Amino acid sequence: SDIGSQKERVVTKEEWLQKWEMGNIGFHKEQVHPLLQKYLDVLLNGRSGLRIFFPLCGKAVEIKWLADMGHSIVGVEVSEQAVKEFFSEHSLPYCEEPVPEISGAKMFQSTSGNISLYCCSIYDLSSSTVGKFDGVWDRGALVAVNPCDRQRYASLMISLMEKNSSYLLVTVSYDPNKHKGPPFYVPESEIQSLFG
Ligand code: SAH
Repeated sequence: SDIGSQKERVVTKEEWLQKWEMGNIGFHKEQVHPLLQKYLDVLLNGRSGLRIFFPLCGKAVEIKWLADMGHSIVGVEVSEQAVKEFFSEHSLPYCEEPVPEISGAKMFQSTSGNISLYCCSIYDLSSSTVGKFDGVWDRGALVAVNPCDRQRYASLMISLMEKNSSYLLVTVSYDPNKHKGPPFYVPESEIQSLFG
């Protein structure tokens, strides 16, 4: 498949912040994703009280949904506006603190302690800061990463996973010559080579 037109495309941090400022966030959905509901059992695999990671989390409602089931959620998002909207739209009290090991980063944590959202670039994270995870919900994340950064993203995600962790990935399938993305088209073959 020819993804030539998207390969070179770069969406900057400033462009993402601007999308949030302008309310240009068609990717945000108010309902829990039907594929998460459908594959919840695969994610949990009989386990409870998991640590679940949300890369490029936006203000995804699934964070609250899984936290309410007793899991503990860590997300990362460059837009502070998105993070603050998440807490205010769910009426969740939170506190805000700097992250000593990442310059400029802040961590927003629900007062109840089970939701921690890092406001920084995902590439600033490592397992020494956020630990490792039993599960990953990747929707609007791999497909939002700039195509040139996919390998780096995948290696980082693998480094954040515990041995028996499950990774749910949602991608989109369309003709990449007809839309510039994001979301970008990530062919199945590329997912195979990124994650093995
Ligand atoms: N997963 C969310 C949001 C998808 S849109 C959902 O399902 O609704 C992609 C999000 O990634 C945007 O909110 C954007 O601000 C954020 N983002 C883009 N690049 C990022 C990066 N390098 N690190 C962290 N967040 C990033």
